[in-house]
Amino acid sequence: MSIKRQMQRKHQTQNADKKLIASKNENAMVGGILEGSPDAVGVVIIRLECGCRKMAAVDIKGDMASKKIIAYRDNADSICDKCKEDHGDFSRITTQFIEWDKDDIEGATKKMIYEKVFGTAPIVH
Ligand SMILES: [Zn+2]
Repeated sequence: MSIKRQMQRKHQTQNADKKLIASKNENAMVGGILEGSPDAVGVVIIRLECGCRKMAAVDIKGDMASKKIIAYRDNADSICDKCKEDHGDFSRITTQFIEWDKDDIEGATKKMIYEKVFGTAPIVH
C-alpha cells in the first residue's frame, strides 16, 4: 500500500473516531454531571460555534436529570461574552448529541429521548 493511501486511510479513521464522541474535557464534565445526577442515563452535549459547551443530564424518560444546564468553555474560567449575552443561542449550535452512560439502553428508548431533547422539547436554560 502506498504511503499516500495509508495516510488517507489514517485520516479517515481519525475522522470516524472524532464523530460525535465527547472530547477529553467533555468527558471529564460528563463524568461529573453523571456523578451528581443519580437518575441520569446520559448527558446532552451541545457545542456552540464560539467553542463554549452546554450540557445537561437526561433521565430514562428524556427529562432533565440535573438541576441545571451547565455551560462552560474549555480552558477558560467562564463562557464567552457572546454566550453571556445570548445564553448560547440555539442558532449558534454546531453539534448536539447525547453521550450515553449505559450501553444497555434500547435503540427505541434512545430515539425517544433524543427526540424529546432535541425535537419537541428543546432545552431552555
Ligand atoms: Zn460562547
